[in-house]
Amino acid sequence: MNLIQQWAAGVLKDNDSPRRIIVTPEPNCNLECSHCYFAHQKVKLSDTPVDWIKVIDFALKHDTDVLVAGRIVTDRVIRFVDQYLQIAQARGTQTKLSVVDNGYTINRLERYFPRIDSFNISIDGCDESHDSQRGVQGAARVAWNAVHYLKGKGYDPVLSSCISPITMKGWEDFEKEVEAADVRMAVTPILQIGETPTSSLYQSSHPRVQALEKLVKGVPKLIQLHDVRDVRAMREILGKDMVWSQENTLPGLKIILDSGIHIVFRPISLSYLTEFLVDDQGNILSQKRVCNLEDLNQQELWAAYS
Ligand code: SF4
Repeated sequence: MNLIQQWAAGVLKDNDSPRRIIVTPEPNCNLECSHCYFAHQKVKLSDTPVDWIKVIDFALKHDTDVLVAGRIVTDRVIRFVDQYLQIAQARGTQTKLSVVDNGYTINRLERYFPRIDSFNISIDGCDESHDSQRGVQGAARVAWNAVHYLKGKGYDPVLSSCISPITMKGWEDFEKEVEAADVRMAVTPILQIGETPTSSLYQSSHPRVQALEKLVKGVPKLIQLHDVRDVRAMREILGKDMVWSQENTLPGLKIILDSGIHIVFRPISLSYLTEFLVDDQGNILSQKRVCNLEDLNQQELWAAYS
């Protein structure tokens, strides 16, 4: 039974083992991206160090992937990573650690690099588009420098992109640079959930189709869909070639195109059940408890099959 079927059968409702926890020891960020799903408030943090033991226990006990999503690498982030790795080592437990960064601060974790399983550096498009979406001139080059630095050290970072009506401009040039750099790429169409500084970047379905067409025609990559509107747009593009199969490594459904492009659909409602958030105070927020299961839109689960 795949996760969607498990969800439909109600099995997941009582399952407290998430696939992944996303830890944000540092809630503040140096950028103010138009598409950021999180509030840009400058959170005032207490000087008292957070006790991460509960979170680390939880992750190790459930054999759960840990994604450190910053927002930038500050002392708080370093403290979490250090504690997680030390406790796991003392217990002889395997770690599963990924880090996402916008390129500005990843080097602060350098002494832990050999124990980090996966690096994600965010670059959203060509320089002009990326800098426009991220609101800071030169942000794209900083991120690219981080990618090249990691590759130069022998690591294999994933370039995480967010395509939007802003970043789809110049997308082809961006993909040329991705190809030349020989770097893996994962792209997510911009989501319209929560509060973003620019709440409605997509005004109609048309740019959505245009954006996805660019992705489907381009270099090999992982395309991550979370919104059923993107599934519908993809159906318009792929027609009869859109045949989903079960995704085994990630919860969701997948399509693999002959060009080497992988498309994965993971409805947001499913993410709610399989990914827990950890806030800057070390609280584990099981999203299934904060969202009403009755509100989850079953249609989005079945849309992929129809
Ligand atoms: S770099 Fe990430 S966390 Fe920071 S504003 Fe941009 S999307 Fe948000």
